[in-house]
Amino acid sequence: MATVRRRTLKALAGLIVFIFFTSFVLNYSHIAVTTTWSPKQMVIELSENFKKLMTYSHRPCTCAHCLSQRGVSPWFDERFNWSMQPLLTAQNAVLEDDTYSWWLRLQREKRPSDLNDTVKMLFQVVPGHVDPLLEKKPWGCRRCAVVGNSGNLRESSYGSQIDNHDFVLRMNKAPTAGFEVDVGSKTTHHLLYPESFRELAENVSMVLVPFKTLDLEWVVSATTTGTISHTYVPVPAKIKVKKDRILIYHPAFIKYVFDSWLQGHGRYPSTGILSVIFSLHICDEVDLYGFGADSKGNWHHYWENNPSAGAFRKTGVHDGDFESVVTATLASINKIRIFKGR
Ligand code: C5P
Repeated sequence: MATVRRRTLKALAGLIVFIFFTSFVLNYSHIAVTTTWSPKQMVIELSENFKKLMTYSHRPCTCAHCLSQRGVSPWFDERFNWSMQPLLTAQNAVLEDDTYSWWLRLQREKRPSDLNDTVKMLFQVVPGHVDPLLEKKPWGCRRCAVVGNSGNLRESSYGSQIDNHDFVLRMNKAPTAGFEVDVGSKTTHHLLYPESFRELAENVSMVLVPFKTLDLEWVVSATTTGTISHTYVPVPAKIKVKKDRILIYHPAFIKYVFDSWLQGHGRYPSTGILSVIFSLHICDEVDLYGFGADSKGNWHHYWENNPSAGAFRKTGVHDGDFESVVTATLASINKIRIFKGR
């Protein structure tokens, strides 16, 4: 009996030390908070942090709202699959049959090269491991801005607010030079595909979104021999982006976005929604800028003067309306914030 009591006491003491340590780490690892250490306050803090620890699907987070928290919304919990890996690496490059055949159907190529051979070549050129910067630390608060290309950014003055995030994700042709006041100047990750390529500053990571096998071959070619200069349109034969700055969006993650988040709407997801869901998996807080029409209903890019351009909606391959429903729903359950601009 005495042994059982001693064991229980030991377990309790261990639990208290664990909670105290966790509480300390959660509170002081990221931000210094001035707290009055009254016993009541301590108990509240401890139980809050213990609750946090228990409800995160993967890791504790010290932001005010941590998006991966479970139990807030069944809609979110049904869709968010923590185990999906956003980046292709040498270790996770073998696709399941149904994923591979879905991904093959996105492309127009009659006889694409063998994916395994292409991937082997690819990872002889670009790093085959996950960018350690992208991996979430065991705790902390990573705040991300995902900047779409909408004309609603014009005269928004969001620039400094956007630059204030830990990660700033941009996409496709998006320029910053000349638009800093509205769109900011910081970029940490730029998502693009060969046909939407633009040169990037040296400190920016390029995230190649492969919609076809040729896109992966293009990465190899564009950073070495320069033999591929045409896909279904002309593409840059050579790029200045350094090989070790190149990351590859996982084709299986594209399918996950399509199946789980878009529920099969459209032919395949737009770069915009691919960036949003990508950010849900690598960030603790996500703010969207540059998504949607401007206040007059125009869908142009922020750097263009033709308000009726229609941009990504014109191609007909994406379901822009359904994608907007997804982002609006994420905002309505406080998983992300949307800054609508003007
Ligand atoms: O036009 P582009 O595909 O380069 O834009 C990148 C993303 O920005 C789109 O996939 C879309 O999600 C978003 N966008 C938007 N409204 C616009 C233009 C772009 O929501 N007017």
